[in-house]
Amino acid sequence: MKKYSYPTPDTFTRARSGELFETAKTYFPGGVHSPVRAFKSVQGPPIFFEKGVGSHIYDVDGQAFVDFCCSWGPLILGHCPPKVVDRVQQAVAEGMSFGTPTPFDNQIGKLVLDNHRYIDMIRFVSSGTEAVMSAIRLARGVTKRDKIIKFEGCYHGHVDALLVKAGSGLVTFGISTSAGIPESFAKETIVVPLADPEALAAAMQQYAGDVAAIIVEPIPANNGLLLQDRSFLQFLRQQADEHGCMLIFDEVISGFRVGFEGATGHYDIQPDIITFGKIIGGGMPVGAYAASRAIMEHVAPVGPVYQAGTLSANPVAMAAGIATLTELLQPGFYEALEAKTKGFTQRLQSFCDSRGYEMTFPSIGSIFWPTFSSQRMMRSDEIDSAKMELFKKMHLECLKRGVYFGPSGYEVGFISAAHSEADLEFAAGQMEESLDLVFGL
Ligand SMILES: *Cc1c(COP(=O)(O)O)cnc(C)c1O
Repeated sequence: MKKYSYPTPDTFTRARSGELFETAKTYFPGGVHSPVRAFKSVQGPPIFFEKGVGSHIYDVDGQAFVDFCCSWGPLILGHCPPKVVDRVQQAVAEGMSFGTPTPFDNQIGKLVLDNHRYIDMIRFVSSGTEAVMSAIRLARGVTKRDKIIKFEGCYHGHVDALLVKAGSGLVTFGISTSAGIPESFAKETIVVPLADPEALAAAMQQYAGDVAAIIVEPIPANNGLLLQDRSFLQFLRQQADEHGCMLIFDEVISGFRVGFEGATGHYDIQPDIITFGKIIGGGMPVGAYAASRAIMEHVAPVGPVYQAGTLSANPVAMAAGIATLTELLQPGFYEALEAKTKGFTQRLQSFCDSRGYEMTFPSIGSIFWPTFSSQRMMRSDEIDSAKMELFKKMHLECLKRGVYFGPSGYEVGFISAAHSEADLEFAAGQMEESLDLVFGL
């Protein structure tokens, strides 16, 4: 293997990354294929990575980093877990896509449905966005209503109807909606604040009879980590029942992350439809939506709600998903991951407390959010955007010391099964040094 080493503040370089980025900007808008990757909210050009192993990623300048972005969540086993790589390689060698049913379909179907008590049937697609888009169509098809209620600060992919005051990438750039979305589409979406039962009840009252679905990230993790009280999620369930609409849990991040049954199992609340992405594909482009048999039988070819996909459930993607999900079912998997995360965040919290730094590290399962506030935040308007300057500094100082965070203070961090205690100790030490600089000691 090519030699890589941790950068230090003296050796850190983006020479090669910077060159590649200049060229990339001539090929792709902003040089990237997803906006947050452009590092607009942090300093310097984005780093170009060429390799990942376990908890580490390696860049084109020969530098190693402990990775807390983990491809934005899918890599719960870390980079290139051998069991996943083996199964994917076998699948590739047999044929990458047939556009037909394959035995992989039944394997992943059984794996998910036998181990998830809240769903009976599932349909696979190729991204989280596609899963959400399909779930919304399904909710509209079943209820024969048009309006959708979503929450400020929840992100549901770049679906037209839901790019209305949505989460991280958008807040980071300080714009509230995307161009190119007809006003008539946006009008079908009602946005209410999180953690505000009165606002939700008022919206339901006002639009009663027109609302097809309430969609929520039950663990909002795209605009900071805005952990909700269970009672609020329970209230959504009651309101949906009362007004005859569907409750959609968007578990693209939380699904298989805080437990095999995700936030649904964690809070033990039965939604009508659940959307999946990220972990379910083990690093391959996969999404899925799932519900009771009665609801799923509205989907074509059984029912009238059309949804299709050329590469849906292709063998390579399914092999990655099967291999990943199988590991998650090992006894103690989630407990160990959560304990590791708690140890890491508690160490950092004690450090900040002892130094008097105003910072907290809210976490759930193996998701954590390094945030420059001492308050528990449950709504997006509670986040102080001025504090993002501090994140920006921390991000750069961490990079210089071999610790990689997603390039925005609105993004959460992920810890994978491959992060060892030694990795976390190293990373915490580097973060502490970085925070001393951020807070100006
Ligand atoms: C990532 C994400 C999406 C979009 O998934 P893509 O695969 O990026 O299209 C949707 N909803 C939530 C909650 C997400 O975190």
